[in-house]
Amino acid sequence: MLKVNSVTKKYGKVLANDNISFDIASGEIAVLIGPNGAGKSTIIKCITGLLRFEGEITVEGMNNKGRQAKALIGYIPEMPAVYDMLTVGEHLQFMLRAYNMTDDGYGDELLKRFELFDKKDKLGKELSKGMQQKLSVCCALVHRPKVVIFDEPMVGLDPHAIKQLKDIFLELKNSGASVLISTHMLDSVETFWDTAYIMVGGKLKAKKTMGDSTESLEELFFGITESGDKN
Ligand code: ATP
Repeated sequence: MLKVNSVTKKYGKVLANDNISFDIASGEIAVLIGPNGAGKSTIIKCITGLLRFEGEITVEGMNNKGRQAKALIGYIPEMPAVYDMLTVGEHLQFMLRAYNMTDDGYGDELLKRFELFDKKDKLGKELSKGMQQKLSVCCALVHRPKVVIFDEPMVGLDPHAIKQLKDIFLELKNSGASVLISTHMLDSVETFWDTAYIMVGGKLKAKKTMGDSTESLEELFFGITESGDKN
């Protein structure tokens, strides 16, 4: 369970997040959509503990700034950040050690699913952009997080990896994780979101649940972003 409670974040005079509150339950997939500059990456960085903010965020009831809460979060950033001089295999070992976990083979399973297993000895700097993105996904999942946050996860992925990722979204949901996906690729998440949050100008402008309406995400997006203050 992820709880975001009255989060406000300013960069100097820029109000990037204005009193944002929402919850994502265990087994729920939420999508976060909104125009460029709406504040999506900012709230994600607040949740993952990368930014200071006003308000409160809890993960399974624990403040997100603590070590225990951080160990429950998996984060796939917009830009993959891999270590140039670690191999693919070493990346996963590094993550497991950071979380004080033993290798139960899940890392290798992820590498196989994302067609990286035969690249286990390649250095981070030797990977293509798409391979780096896939490794970033594997690193974020290897410790079996309970709250998983994807910031534009599909960008640069090939069709095989996109299919694997979509399967993983559903597996995470079925395993009881809380999943948040921020994306502009509305078609890519159309079939499996439970809740959609539409952000505009730093505010959460609307929340829709799958059963609420027959509108597609695209229709919701344009309905909110191109019609003044409609909710
Ligand atoms: P996009 O869809 O383009 O990725 P976004 O919804 O993720 O956009 P944010 O990156 O959260 O938007 O940006 C929200 C606002 O905060 C924007 O006005 C942006 O210019 C501003 N902003 C973001 N990062 C910084 C920063 N490091 N310093 C100053 N302003 C920032």
